[in-house]
Amino acid sequence: MIVKPKIRGFICITSHPDGCAAHVQEQIDYVKSKGEIADGPKNVLVIGSSTGYGLSSRIVSAFGSGANTLGLFFEKPGSEKRTGTAGWYNSAAFEKAATDAGLVAKSLNGDAFSHEMKAKAVEIIKNDMGPIDLVVYSLASPRRIDPDTGEDYRSVLKTTDGEYVNKNLNTDKGLIEEVTIGAATQEEIDNTIKVMGGADWELWMNALDEAGVLAQGVKTVSYSYIGPELTWPIYTDGTIGRAKKDLEVVSDRLNTKLGEKYGGESYVSVNKALVTQASSAIPVVPLYISILYKEMKAKGLHEGCIEQIQRLFADRLYGGDLQLDEAQRIRIDDWEMRDDIQSAIAKSWDTISNDNIGELADYAGYQQEFLKLFGFGIDGVDYNAETDPTTSPASISE
Ligand code: NAD
Repeated sequence: MIVKPKIRGFICITSHPDGCAAHVQEQIDYVKSKGEIADGPKNVLVIGSSTGYGLSSRIVSAFGSGANTLGLFFEKPGSEKRTGTAGWYNSAAFEKAATDAGLVAKSLNGDAFSHEMKAKAVEIIKNDMGPIDLVVYSLASPRRIDPDTGEDYRSVLKTTDGEYVNKNLNTDKGLIEEVTIGAATQEEIDNTIKVMGGADWELWMNALDEAGVLAQGVKTVSYSYIGPELTWPIYTDGTIGRAKKDLEVVSDRLNTKLGEKYGGESYVSVNKALVTQASSAIPVVPLYISILYKEMKAKGLHEGCIEQIQRLFADRLYGGDLQLDEAQRIRIDDWEMRDDIQSAIAKSWDTISNDNIGELADYAGYQQEFLKLFGFGIDGVDYNAETDPTTSPASISE
């Protein structure tokens, strides 16, 4: 099949198997160029491992620390007629590279919120891996079915305090428009916490603990975002921010529990705003990211998911210098939040319009990153050549 990008709003409905493999390889090469992470993890479970921050966490674990990995995700395989999702091809490429390097790399495709996936993960850990010394929880999901009650919860991206109007980038057309975001009801806030808060992370850690598959000194980390005040109404003070607060409460509880039983630790890491499938769906954020990229690239500070996670693992989690903030969070968003970067963004935000977007924002960089998420626009990939859409992760197609 010859595969070209087909963009529909903030999603691309095709993805390129060879392009995704090249994107994964780029990340592997970067991690290898950084050398081995001393005392890094050896048996890692990544929940949400197929794209974005979770994929990078899996790559840094394997290629920076020589870890066996179990990755869990919710993706669609391809067929002779249509391509699978990018995360499916990323996972196929990752598994191949990791097993070629002599590492165990197993994957599970299914609903992380279910009891079934937790039981399957435990089985794989018992049969194929050693006790888990790192659990990365990196899910971004719009819904969750409660595994006990069967209730179907949907998350929303709304404010928690009245209507909010701001500039927004139509990423399809490259045009700035105005967006109005409504306030959530209490039920919508509660449902978003159910989906994107810490409840399922805690269920995972409890299931692994009860099954006896956690190692002494185990660490667990989940990812959050804060950003500047201009995005607070939709993010930090919005429904998603409430869910992220819940993650911090759960992390505190896990830290105590793991500390007592395993000498273990739990953290929330606040990461940089980046183009991923999850972030491109949030109003206001893509325009902010485009301006952020412009400023960070100009100052030589730009990072993607892989650079962020490399720094998180090598300098913070396993580097002996966590640099926790007042709420006990790891701040790998430190360069994004630097005063010089944020004051430049605030200035651009006030004046940006369709007349000067090319000057004040890196829309081309945004688009390029977006296409790359689906394996397009990558040097060395022949997009006019036939590619196999049925490529699959070996441990799933076994
Ligand atoms: P992403 O969309 O790239 O990845 C989401 C992952 O979750 C994928 O592997 C997907 O398959 C998996 N997933 C979704 N629903 C699932 C389900 N029901 N069962 C199993 N797997 C499921 O997202 P991302 O941007 O990498 O986000 C990961 C985490 O990082 C989120 O918690 C997000 O809030 C946080 N974060 C993101 C940013 C950003 O700018 N992108 C910044 C800071 C923090």
